[in-house]
Amino acid sequence: MADFWYIGHNAIVVLFTMLFLVGIVVGSFLNVLIFRIPLKEDIAVERSHCMHCGHILSWYELIPLFSWIIQGGKCRACKAKISIQYPIVEALNAILWMVVVWAWGLRWESVLFCICSSILIVLSVIDERTQEIPIGLNIAIAILGAARVILKLTGVATATGPWYEYLIGAVCVSGLFLLIVLITKGRGMGGGDVKLMAAAGLLLGWKQIILAMMIGCILGSVIHLLRMALDKKKKKEHVLAFGPYLAIGIYLTIIFGNPIIDWYSGFFTRV
Ligand SMILES: [Zn+2]
Repeated sequence: MADFWYIGHNAIVVLFTMLFLVGIVVGSFLNVLIFRIPLKEDIAVERSHCMHCGHILSWYELIPLFSWIIQGGKCRACKAKISIQYPIVEALNAILWMVVVWAWGLRWESVLFCICSSILIVLSVIDERTQEIPIGLNIAIAILGAARVILKLTGVATATGPWYEYLIGAVCVSGLFLLIVLITKGRGMGGGDVKLMAAAGLLLGWKQIILAMMIGCILGSVIHLLRMALDKKKKKEHVLAFGPYLAIGIYLTIIFGNPIIDWYSGFFTRV
């Protein structure tokens, strides 16, 4: 856990309550992005309504997470089921934010990594559904990476390692993935995965992005094999959306990467 006990217990309670509340509100915006980015619709403007009957939602039906729970997951007007994806995305965003701040404390990295976590949620759901990672989301992560390098160079952020570790991060895993795409002619993975690892590599640095890739590949193959085994009867052809697994790898590396890498490099310094 990060070292921020100096702000006092009360301040920590306020901080995490705020993170939770802002987290679920931003989470409900992520639901809008998840729905509208693949349709290439305008974000915002239009008033929120029931997808089924068109019932315009009033303010108390728009409270993230709580409205869904109170209404029992149904529209108040027509009783149509509201997807459980909405409250899950809202709660997940809040939880991922709290864990980032728990791990990184009151540092600039926490801001960058919270934004990155939200992008990873949107990217995962869209990739799982459409087998495509929208380029704008990868660009957004790359901007976070550039911001971290700039904060590092100006001495504002306390990222470990010199700045060029992040430039190496941008090319090492993405270069390998690009090679795989060229060899398998895009059957193994897609161009979106290459760009994701380039952007996240710039944000995390080379050691961390290699770890993220390993976690993502292990998770991806295990879960994919399980899903293929469970789905045998239906004989549905499975296309593996690799993005969600890479996203989990990236997130877990943000949280646990430093201790794991320290532990691993400890083997070599002790010998
Ligand atoms: Zn309705």
